[in-house]
Amino acid sequence: MIVMVLTENKTSYSAVQIPSDLLKLLDDFAKTPQAKKLGVTNKSQAAKKAALEFLEKYSQTEEKPTRFILPNLEEPEESLDLDIYEKTVICNKCNLESCKHTDTLYKDKYVKMVLINSKIKIPKIK
Ligand SMILES: [Zn+2]
Repeated sequence: MIVMVLTENKTSYSAVQIPSDLLKLLDDFAKTPQAKKLGVTNKSQAAKKAALEFLEKYSQTEEKPTRFILPNLEEPEESLDLDIYEKTVICNKCNLESCKHTDTLYKDKYVKMVLINSKIKIPKIK
C-alpha cells in the first residue's frame, strides 16, 4: 500500500518525457466524467495517479510468489511455469503477465482442479 500526501505549495515538481500521443490520451481522459469521479481534472493529475497505481501494483518486492509448475509431457511447449502473486501472475517461460500459459491457468478445467487440490488461489482476471 502506497500513500503519498502531496501538499501543493511544499511539493517540488520535476518533468519526465513521455510520448505526446500518450500525454494526449491522459489529457482526453482527464476531461471525462470517470476522471472527475477519481478527482482527476487535468493530465498532470492523471499521470500522477497512474504512476501511484503502477507503484502500488509492482513495487511489492517482498511478496514471495507461489511457483506453479505443471509439466505437459505430450506437448512440452504447453507446460506451465508460473509465479502466482496475490494480484498478478507472471509466466516464467514468456516473462509475461498474459500469454497462452496464463490463459491455460485461468481456462483449463484440469488446471483448475490441480489448483483447488493444491490449495493455490489465483488472482481474479482484470
Ligand atoms: Zn507463457
